[in-house]
Amino acid sequence: MSVDKNLEQVMDRVNKASETVGRDPKEVTIVAVTKYVSNERAEEAVKAGLLHLGENRPEGLEEKKKALHAEQIKWHFIGTLQSRKVKKVINDVDFLHSLDRLSLAEEIQKRAEHPIKCFLQVNVSGEEQKHGLSPENASEFVEQLESYDKIEVIGLMTMAPNTQDEAVLRNCFRNLRELRDRIQEKKLANVPCTELSMGMSNDFEIAIQEGATYIRIGSSLVGE
Ligand SMILES: *Cc1c(COP(=O)(O)O)cnc(C)c1O
Repeated sequence: MSVDKNLEQVMDRVNKASETVGRDPKEVTIVAVTKYVSNERAEEAVKAGLLHLGENRPEGLEEKKKALHAEQIKWHFIGTLQSRKVKKVINDVDFLHSLDRLSLAEEIQKRAEHPIKCFLQVNVSGEEQKHGLSPENASEFVEQLESYDKIEVIGLMTMAPNTQDEAVLRNCFRNLRELRDRIQEKKLANVPCTELSMGMSNDFEIAIQEGATYIRIGSSLVGE
């Protein structure tokens, strides 16, 4: 399937999900996750009008950035970022979805040439194999970021459990939204925390219903 056709279907689903809860679909930004696909396929996504692209490895990001030099593309780093790789990638990304520890914040503070839009990655479901701060630690973590002027915590990110159980998914997204609201209320410098990065091919409709503002879509959009 062409990306155009896939995008049509995804947009249809975004619109319907938004409608069910009275949200404006324009509040939802689609991040096209190109980590599985060729440069050509990523280029096709850009031509289809997808200007937010997501990669999860430094090498993938570098390669795609070289191949696709459309100035208007916003680059999202959605994978675990090792501290020693920060120097290599941090000034090449517009959004980082995986801030999950103070040592990473420190390295970003040292290496970034301008403030980086970051999402705190939160492990809402508590699964052991998942990265991210626990919800309790996330709340304390933001208090420690005051002097980190290269970090702007624009919101929270989570990955839901791999399940079709709608109640489990909904609960996960709702917990992230409530945590976002509590952190936002702190009104901390560098922590506007207005955004929610949640929802993938399998679960983005529920995520939208629960308030997602960025959804990260790979397989349904560009393929696996
Ligand atoms: C791969 C990936 C996605 C996209 O997953 P799909 O199920 O293919 O839509 C979203 N978020 C993260 C963090 C990923 O690693």
